[in-house]
Amino acid sequence: MLGQIERGESNPTIATLWKIASGFDVSFSSFVKDDEPHQSGLMHRKPRMQQLHKQDDRINVMPIFPFDKNLGFEVFIIELLPGCTHLSPPHQKGVIEHVIPVSGFIEVLVDERWRKVNPSEGLRFDAFFPHGYRNLSNHPVLFHDMIHYMK
Ligand code: MN
Repeated sequence: MLGQIERGESNPTIATLWKIASGFDVSFSSFVKDDEPHQSGLMHRKPRMQQLHKQDDRINVMPIFPFDKNLGFEVFIIELLPGCTHLSPPHQKGVIEHVIPVSGFIEVLVDERWRKVNPSEGLRFDAFFPHGYRNLSNHPVLFHDMIHYMK
């Protein structure tokens, strides 16, 4: 699989990229194409939704704040298209996710239970265990996913 990706013969899914990131103990945003230079300090980022990184049919992921190794932190905006159910493999130990819906509610799978999270509410969970996100509505929904990598 890694060889196929390196040779450009395979377009890995987001779940596969997460497995690779976890296996190599690196952040997810290190795989996401980002033309802006990574920097510390002041950043004002305006994600353009048409430029969301598209790997899977119904989920788009774009880093707002790419991984900062001093903070052990990265922030994504994620779009789930109608009907999307995205299951994520466990990440590295010490990875904590904070999910905050922006538009519309999403459901998050934690501890084998789907939990409804409304806009501006927050859900934090230990991402060392299997988890997932889904949108069973008829509209695309957006949420922020803040990911901490604890040492
Ligand atoms: Mn995850």
